[in-house]
Amino acid sequence: MVKPALRVEKIPPYLFARIDKKKTEAKSRGIDLIDFGIGDPDIPTPKNIIEKMKEAIYDPKNHRYPSYEGMLEFRQAVSEWYKKRFEVTLDPKDEVVTLIGSKEGIAHMPWAYVENGDIALVPSPGYPVYKIMTILAGGNPYIMPLKEENGFLPRFDLIPEDILYKAKIMFINYPNNPTGAHAKDDFFENTLKIAEKYNILICHDAAYSEIAYDGYKPRSILEFDKDKKYSVEFHSLSKTYCMTGWRIGFAVGNKDAIYNLGKLKTNVDSGVFQAIQVAGIEALTGSQNSVEDIKKIFQRRRDAVVEGLKTVGINVTKPLATFYIWAKVPEGYTSADFCEKLIEETGIVVTPGSGFGDEGEGYFRIAITIDEDRIDEAIKRLKSLKI
Ligand SMILES: *Cc1c(COP(=O)(O)O)cnc(C)c1O
Repeated sequence: MVKPALRVEKIPPYLFARIDKKKTEAKSRGIDLIDFGIGDPDIPTPKNIIEKMKEAIYDPKNHRYPSYEGMLEFRQAVSEWYKKRFEVTLDPKDEVVTLIGSKEGIAHMPWAYVENGDIALVPSPGYPVYKIMTILAGGNPYIMPLKEENGFLPRFDLIPEDILYKAKIMFINYPNNPTGAHAKDDFFENTLKIAEKYNILICHDAAYSEIAYDGYKPRSILEFDKDKKYSVEFHSLSKTYCMTGWRIGFAVGNKDAIYNLGKLKTNVDSGVFQAIQVAGIEALTGSQNSVEDIKKIFQRRRDAVVEGLKTVGINVTKPLATFYIWAKVPEGYTSADFCEKLIEETGIVVTPGSGFGDEGEGYFRIAITIDEDRIDEAIKRLKSLKI
């Protein structure tokens, strides 16, 4: 057999493999699984967006290669949405790029900025793409631990100065997957101070900026980086409009960063199917009632899970945003052991925190992407679990 490239061999093994095996085993034993594992909304894409797609798909001009940087009309829609939502002005021509889902842009960022031996600052626990793509690009990820006592925000004062001077990019993600944590204004201000002092490009993953509750309105880092000197922000239509399967997102912010990311992308992909971009314009500029409805559903589920967990002695912080609940595993278990026990004895599937990095050990993540009846059933089953 031909030996694969070292860079592929170096990718750490898939940490959810053990859980997947347990799931398959449990299913074959006829166990009715309740799956809180997947961070993928179970709610269908709003109808107005689907209708727009239906029209657009018949238009032959949408059947050809799209432009690399995305349709200008889509980028204009992003710019309008940003103005309305954050009071931030973006030039659709050179401060916005369309992405094939925000994961694609996030994954390409290290390729545009990280050279052999360069450092990227990445949070742990965190979305695995930041770290893995840094490694694949030949860089060294430097882990910023997100600890409960710090509100799951990184402590910049604990990062050695030589690391900060060497670092080229930093990934942050608020509202946060997997912890459900959010960042206050001073965090963004402090992050930008670090960016300025040490010349670091901040890559803010804002996939959950619209999934927030109890009147909380997440901020854009561009509200603080007024001249767009130090930051780019990644957004996704996946979570806001339940469009995970459609593959559309966008990056905005610093002109050079958008240019360099776009330049790299022209050599990798050929843009997003235009009909999907047309549907994306409808999502961003059409009625936002569906977003309100979706949030209400998640908010009710969040409350049901948090209250239910309390009745079985698991106390968690009620997240103000995202559709994740981050909970501590009971004393005496590793994340993986506890998650396996849950599947085996109750058929409940959750994600072991260790799958999001070493700092996630000791926790598990509940994605509230299933309906309330199933949540009630899960809580009932938990009551019979012997820990
Ligand atoms: C879901 C998610 C994304 C990626 O979403 P796309 O579907 O690729 O747009 C990015 N970051 C985080 C933290 C996510 O949870």
